Amino acid sequence: MQTVPFFFTGGTISMKHDAARGGAVPALSGAEILSHDPELAQLANLEVVDFARLAGPQITPAHMWDLSEQINATLARPEVAGAVVTHGTDTLEETAFFLDLRHRSPKPVIVIGAMRNASELSYDGPANVRAAMRVAIDEASRGQGVFVLLNETIHAAAYATKMDTQAIETFQSPVFGPLGIVDKDRVFFARTLKFRQTIDTARLEDRVDLFQMYAGSDGRFIDHARELGARGIVIEGTGRGNVPPMTLPAIQRAIDAGLPVLISTRCAQGRVLDTYAYEGSGRDLRARGVIFAGNLTGPKARILLMLALGITNDPQALRLLIEAGQYF
Ligand code: ASP
Repeated sequence: MQTVPFFFTGGTISMKHDAARGGAVPALSGAEILSHDPELAQLANLEVVDFARLAGPQITPAHMWDLSEQINATLARPEVAGAVVTHGTDTLEETAFFLDLRHRSPKPVIVIGAMRNASELSYDGPANVRAAMRVAIDEASRGQGVFVLLNETIHAAAYATKMDTQAIETFQSPVFGPLGIVDKDRVFFARTLKFRQTIDTARLEDRVDLFQMYAGSDGRFIDHARELGARGIVIEGTGRGNVPPMTLPAIQRAIDAGLPVLISTRCAQGRVLDTYAYEGSGRDLRARGVIFAGNLTGPKARILLMLALGITNDPQALRLLIEAGQYF
């Protein structure tokens, strides 16, 4: 029988209602989460790694780095079919993308969570655990990197994003849709990814800040980030990747200081491109040396830049690395 290690990091899947604190808090160990489904052990040998017991917003890039190191070491063991990570859904897509960028094994990694905690009637943790286990041991899952899986729907880590604050089908892959589903009798992939980027680095640069643009925004926070020692800046622009003109001087100062500046969009879906030519438009930004982040969300563009900065801090080299990434 194959082995499937589970890395438990916390999140709602590990939570119970705490009457004294008035809300849900991490409470369950990995073994306690798995114990909801006694039949799991018939599918594979289970290994429990209690990595952390944190809520999604408490996870940091340093946790992501440690987790990816541990997972990659585990996947190198021949008896391991694939690995499962449980995670708070709030930042799940960031960790999943981070793991994906550092994942070279053909073995799958499945990142799951839950939207309803273990004190609620419709706790979705055990169903997501079972689905992840089935994907981990399924031959068709190999060679596609890291998946996000909730509600029996399989998403590519690069595309999945949390769309709803409470729905169990919260994870969606805007524009292109999910890769497959876990049905009662089979794991079914409707398509496979044509492209995945990996970043081979031994170092993480976590001094990368993210700012969202809004009508009337200016450059105070971008200047502040640069003055406080940011090594890179990601901007969630408006629409196709444009910014209010009042932010331009601060963006220019960041570029003049040698910082890579990435543009993504605050739209829920779609790709940034330099189709407009007015002051503050994508074309204006590109002429100043801003790097385009394809269809990555701001948080994911930040993950990519943090790892890419582990390889080089030369803005031209970063542009090639990131724009050649072809995240459509
Ligand atoms: N706020 C929770 C967290 O990210 C949500 C969840 O896990 O579903 O830890």
